[in-house]
Amino acid sequence: MKLDSLEELYVEELRDLYNAEHQILKALPKMAKAASSPDLEKGFQEHLQQTKGQVDRLDQIFADLGKSTKGKKCEAMEGLLKEGAELLEVDAEPSVLDAALIAAAQRVEHYEIAGYGCVRTYAKLLGHSEATKLLQQTLDEERRTDEKLTELAVGSINTEAVEPEGNQAKKSPAQKAARRA
Ligand code: FE
Ligand code: FE
Ligand code: FE
Repeated sequence: MKLDSLEELYVEELRDLYNAEHQILKALPKMAKAASSPDLEKGFQEHLQQTKGQVDRLDQIFADLGKSTKGKKCEAMEGLLKEGAELLEVDAEPSVLDAALIAAAQRVEHYEIAGYGCVRTYAKLLGHSEATKLLQQTLDEERRTDEKLTELAVGSINTEAVEPEGNQAKKSPAQKAARRA
């Protein structure tokens, strides 16, 4: 591959994100199904709908550029999602699995935030004002999704995972007393 200009890098990075979003489209329904918390399940479902809109934005940007969306596989997203999928094979307490799903999902969102931040900045530098606007919208959605995941984790899910119901009987009275202290 040859990259001679920021415009070429811009297109390559957009293709990486386009491929990443399609991988995410396949993964989110599985993550929603695996979630025990209704709020987390709903969050994944909502982000699935948002992701479809994000793909539409990228389609519009490629159409305006007169470029093909194809030609790049996002190896990083494949790896992140593979780690997430491994969780679904594990025999885990439901609340612990929810905490782990959030950790996996936040890794995905952070990758997207980095990618969209870069292409939004390139679009601006290259004078693609409509694309700048569209990419900023997606960037805002990814950031908001990351924040919502933090709110779910901090608000309840991580706390429930500290001492899942099914595990309480296994803890000694001394351990429980220590936790209450
Ligand atoms: Fe996305
Ligand atoms: Fe990538
Ligand atoms: Fe996302």
